Amino acid sequence: MNPVNAANHYDVVVIGAGAAGLMCAATAGYRGQRVLVLDHANKPGKKILMSGGGRCNFTNLNSTPANFLSDNPHYCISALKRYTPQDFLELVDRHGIEHEEKAAGQLFCKDSAKDILNMLLTECDWAGAEIRMKTSVESVSPLEQGYALTTSAGDLRCRSLVIASGGLSIPTMGASGFGYDIARQFGLKILPTRAGLVPFTLQPQLKEQLSPLSGVSCPVDVHCGKFHFLEPMLVTHRGLSGPCMLQISSYWSPGDTLAVDLLPGRNVQEDLYQLRKEKPQSTVQNYLMQHLPKRFAQAFAEMHDWSGPLQGFKNHDLDAAAETLSGWRIKPAGTEGYRTAEVTLGGVDTRQLSSKTMAVLDRPDLYFIGEVVDVTGHLGGHNFQWAWASGVAAGMDA
Ligand SMILES: Cc1cc2nc3c(=O)[nH]c(=O)nc-3n(C[C@H](O)[C@H](O)[C@H](O)COP(=O)(O)OP(=O)(O)OC[C@H]3O[C@@H](n4cnc5c(N)ncnc54)[C@H](O)[C@@H]3O)c2cc1C
Repeated sequence: MNPVNAANHYDVVVIGAGAAGLMCAATAGYRGQRVLVLDHANKPGKKILMSGGGRCNFTNLNSTPANFLSDNPHYCISALKRYTPQDFLELVDRHGIEHEEKAAGQLFCKDSAKDILNMLLTECDWAGAEIRMKTSVESVSPLEQGYALTTSAGDLRCRSLVIASGGLSIPTMGASGFGYDIARQFGLKILPTRAGLVPFTLQPQLKEQLSPLSGVSCPVDVHCGKFHFLEPMLVTHRGLSGPCMLQISSYWSPGDTLAVDLLPGRNVQEDLYQLRKEKPQSTVQNYLMQHLPKRFAQAFAEMHDWSGPLQGFKNHDLDAAAETLSGWRIKPAGTEGYRTAEVTLGGVDTRQLSSKTMAVLDRPDLYFIGEVVDVTGHLGGHNFQWAWASGVAAGMDA
């Protein structure tokens, strides 16, 4: 333990050297604040490195507040408006990082996610923000002005404290409930947390039926209640994944049934009636093979016992097949949980925070940013955009 002296006094201490924390530290540092970032992991920005399949989908040019889930949906608007995808793109361009647009609006590094992390570390360095890894925070005590921190590297004081310790997803990457514990310590409400952007697991029978299809992907329109996503679905050896399943998982609750339109945009009933008329010897499998990967078409037809020529199908058989193909009903067993989830839904209730500064309303020197708060983006670069925008909002104020 070291004595608290001037060297251990900081204007701003940020806990969490992830996307939001590094962005906040650089922003506060450029404003002339003495900034220290603390993190218990051995390396900063681990999630940035593993993001976007190693190429970091660092923003989405079409990001709007409608791409976020929150119990208080208006909260994110102000920060997202003040720091836009274009602002982050300008930073990326200033650092000469090559990037490409994969799907509409989704920007990825051309080379490696390391480029984004190195950019943030360079920004922190230029802004004079210090980063201390492998440091755990044992306690946080409020002072008359600021906070006293007991850490594994000694005691510290700061005027402003920023909690950027992320959510619970991927515990092996350093995720912890630290941010929620601090919020509770200061009397803040935590909305129930759960895994989001996460693959589904299946009931044993369906899992077995689909297991030969592991690796097969096809575009589908998946519905859960009033929400739906038209994107590729991927069958895995554990269940169902791919962008559409990850997206809808954020809206799914245990017990909910998904309805999957396997042939979006087609009038399947009309197609099947027409085919029976024109080619009575044709089969449902033949029809499916025109529109779906062969392996999937075969297995799906077998699973539903759609064998034999269409001429043997009565109208109600065709109607039932069309209904299944346009709204295949699946009741997932669950999700893979935090082990593989990209994000954590829920978290610090934003009703207690300023949407301008991210500070606690009745404690304007304590800030919560990034994934620890109840703002969760869709897949496609929105979560990082929230990390950058909330990090800048706090960094401008702290
Ligand atoms: C596999 C994967 C891929 C992803 N891909 C994308 C993508 O391409 N695009 C996108 O927009 N989003 C993506 N995300 C989501 C994105 O990574 C997160 O939304 C984002 O990292 C959240 O930023 P954050 O700074 O709030 O938290 P994090 O980046 O998780 O950072 C939190 C930091 O706090 C530290 N910490 C935690 N607990 C403590 C503690 N007790 N003491 C000290 N330090 C602590 C952690 O070690 C970590 O460094 C992906 C997520 C995963 C898991």
